[in-house]
Amino acid sequence: MNDINHPFIVSGPCSAETENQVLQTAHELKKVAGVKVFRAGIWKPRTRPNYFEGVGKKGLKWLQRVKSETGLKLAVEVASPQHVEECLKHDIDMFWLGARTVVNPFSVQEITEALRGVSNPIMIKNPVNPDLKLWIGAIERVYAAGANKLIAIHRGFYTLNKSLFRNPPMWEMPIELKRAIPNLPILVDPSHIAGTTNLIPHIAQKAMDLEMDGLMIESHHRPDSALSDAEQQITPNQLGELLDGLVIRDRSDRSDFQDKLAEFRTQIDEIDDELLDILSKRMDIVNEIGAYKKDNKITILQLKRWSYIIENRIKKGVDQGLSKEFLVKVLKLIHIESMRIQTEIMNIHKQNEE
Ligand code: PEP
Ligand code: MN
Repeated sequence: MNDINHPFIVSGPCSAETENQVLQTAHELKKVAGVKVFRAGIWKPRTRPNYFEGVGKKGLKWLQRVKSETGLKLAVEVASPQHVEECLKHDIDMFWLGARTVVNPFSVQEITEALRGVSNPIMIKNPVNPDLKLWIGAIERVYAAGANKLIAIHRGFYTLNKSLFRNPPMWEMPIELKRAIPNLPILVDPSHIAGTTNLIPHIAQKAMDLEMDGLMIESHHRPDSALSDAEQQITPNQLGELLDGLVIRDRSDRSDFQDKLAEFRTQIDEIDDELLDILSKRMDIVNEIGAYKKDNKITILQLKRWSYIIENRIKKGVDQGLSKEFLVKVLKLIHIESMRIQTEIMNIHKQNEE
């Protein structure tokens, strides 16, 4: 974990499903340089009932086979004292607290009591909601029970906004965590941040550029047939390619100045992502308005509404410190694009009538 030039890699399926799936995936992962720990969910927290909820403790025996056949260390999510007890009976090396558990201090405390005196490393995912204090609170609870091999896992946060990501990374959160607890290693979980496989390499690289300590990435020998999180799992082969493609920049010669700059750039990237999400959401609504106007034979340009928007937005923007000239330009561009979209909708309608 302390070797900054070699990120610590945890990989394995979202869920253990069958003995064959677990063993096959583990043997393939064993061939991927850098993978140290095999992860698999045994008990799965699902948002709604009647979905696959994990195979339960029989899966722990499959994991023991993984360890004896591949030598990989094992990591399992624990969400109750019983889970901890079962894992200890089955030689699981590392535990993690999931995002849905960390939101609840009662649950964290209960698990913590079961971990008293246990020397295995404990990984603590961020809570689902973007609350740094709740994340730090869970870390403090586990630390207070005497666990001193702690690792944080950044898996992104729930947002109401439309987003490219399943759980937007909000990188300022792990950066703030690093500042609050400087020696705590942080792994990044690009799988749960992305929700789809195509964004995973980009997030993994970003994690390295921000000097995070490692990655937890979901992998499956046949992702398409996975019983949970099928869209975000990659094959061990793909993981190998991803890791080979990572650029690990030399950290030793980075000055504080560069670190600060990287932090500002991250914030700008984040804000630009949000700007794009918001613009796209606005244009989605424009599309709906266009369809509504078309159905009700209302004209596109409604001058009263447009004058209201200009006056109202400029006033608000100026109050927030933006210049009037800039606001006028941005609002005009948005307006032109909105009109273009609505005109396109009307034209499609006309063509259909012809
Ligand atoms: C998982 O790692 O499979 C999982 C359920 O993650 P999270 O707690 O981050 O949603
Ligand atoms: Mn998962």
